Amino acid sequence: MFWRESTLNQRLALVVAVLFLIGCHVTPIQAQSADPPADPTIHIVQRGDTLLSIANRYGATVDAITHANGIPDPRQIYLGQRIIIPSAANDLEITETVPYVFQIGDTLTAIARRYRTTWQTLAQVNNLLSPNVLYTGQVIQVPTIATLTSNDMGNPVPIERYDTSYVVRPQDTMLRIALKHGISPWTLTTASHVANPALIYPGQALTAPGLGEGNGHLPTPFASITVQPLPVAQGTVMVIKVHTIESVTLTGELFEQTIPFAEEGGIYYALVGVHVFAETGLYDLNLTATDEQGQSTIVSTRVVVEASRFYYERIDVPAGRTNLLDPVAIARDNERLNMARRTFTPERLWDIPFERPCVGSISAYFGSHRSYNGGPYTSYHSGIDFRVPSGTPIYAAASGTVVLAEPLTLWGNAVVIDHGWGVLTGYGHLSKIEVEIGQHVERGELIARAGNTGLSTGSHLHWETWVNGASVNGLQWLEDPSTWLQVEWLAVGG
Ligand SMILES: [Zn+2]
Repeated sequence: MFWRESTLNQRLALVVAVLFLIGCHVTPIQAQSADPPADPTIHIVQRGDTLLSIANRYGATVDAITHANGIPDPRQIYLGQRIIIPSAANDLEITETVPYVFQIGDTLTAIARRYRTTWQTLAQVNNLLSPNVLYTGQVIQVPTIATLTSNDMGNPVPIERYDTSYVVRPQDTMLRIALKHGISPWTLTTASHVANPALIYPGQALTAPGLGEGNGHLPTPFASITVQPLPVAQGTVMVIKVHTIESVTLTGELFEQTIPFAEEGGIYYALVGVHVFAETGLYDLNLTATDEQGQSTIVSTRVVVEASRFYYERIDVPAGRTNLLDPVAIARDNERLNMARRTFTPERLWDIPFERPCVGSISAYFGSHRSYNGGPYTSYHSGIDFRVPSGTPIYAAASGTVVLAEPLTLWGNAVVIDHGWGVLTGYGHLSKIEVEIGQHVERGELIARAGNTGLSTGSHLHWETWVNGASVNGLQWLEDPSTWLQVEWLAVGG
């Protein structure tokens, strides 16, 4: 799912090249219904009418109307002309559907235009009560009217070309315009019959062949936005990857929180941890790009959070330690930990998979909903417990900087490491701390010894992973990232 742009563009360029070579212009196959409607709607052309305005008025497409009326040139209609309007119901009977994954920047109207149908038809086929309820990652059914292949997003690509014209503006370059349209500069040059791509001038009209690529219609300066995985589960991580056509300051907003972006290799990345208790459903994701002139562009979409399955555990705290459940002590710990875990360092020091922090079996999993001494299940286990004897060596899961190394009430002796990009790991109940605040540690370096300090009922390591302030399931980070994020760029050595 995490496609590489170069490959995609090459493939798109190839499709266009093939179309040019064989000189064919694929005509959409508008299948005919067996029984024409008994009483077709007729529109008499009025002053100011265009086929597009007529099509919009009746929820039909220009193509369907031109086809139904045998109009050779859509620009040539005349006052008083009788136009047959093909009905939407008719469209429904004649089509098969294929799945389409809703992308950021998509609208029902834009998808309809690309697939030569109407948003009303799409809404009807998908039983959508409102076109505004769509979210990124949602799969909708698109009626097929021509042979479709699929692009790297797994979405169907209409083979026929939907050329859009673009008027060159000052500061534009061929590369910039091509990126904006999600095509290669070569494709743009060829399609526009430009002899020398270095010599374009403001006001010049270019032809950008649109091939139905998901992000072709994002507002400048956004070139592409990828959010993965979708839907995202409670207690896991979402990665947002943004390409822009120029250098920008990028920020995001999700779960009523600011999402900081980090730049690496000309691409902007943000990681968002989804809270275990986040309600399932739709959330607004807003991305704001501010260019060097201070002009801001906002793209909004919706993402879905789905439920994770968690265990329920009853914990009985020994009588001698119930004082550790004191709300004041908990608040004091949290304040100290929150300060550390809100850290955002723009440099990425980590790779995945993480190194397991110690040997030993897992005695408690992440996310279990917990009741203490028979109380309500209002807390959850925010880390992973490894059952190990006191004194067992504890290693840094990834490279980073120590931002906390001190005794806490619940955590006991604790270490927190900042790995960059809002990713941190925490280690609790230690018998001995072997590092100091500010110290740089390498992945796999000894940082502490396991113990039974703080709110602990036996020697073990409590290990936490935080992403943008939220506790997430560290087990994911111990696995091959391709199994959960499909992000080979984060792999060790990558
Ligand atoms: Zn624990």
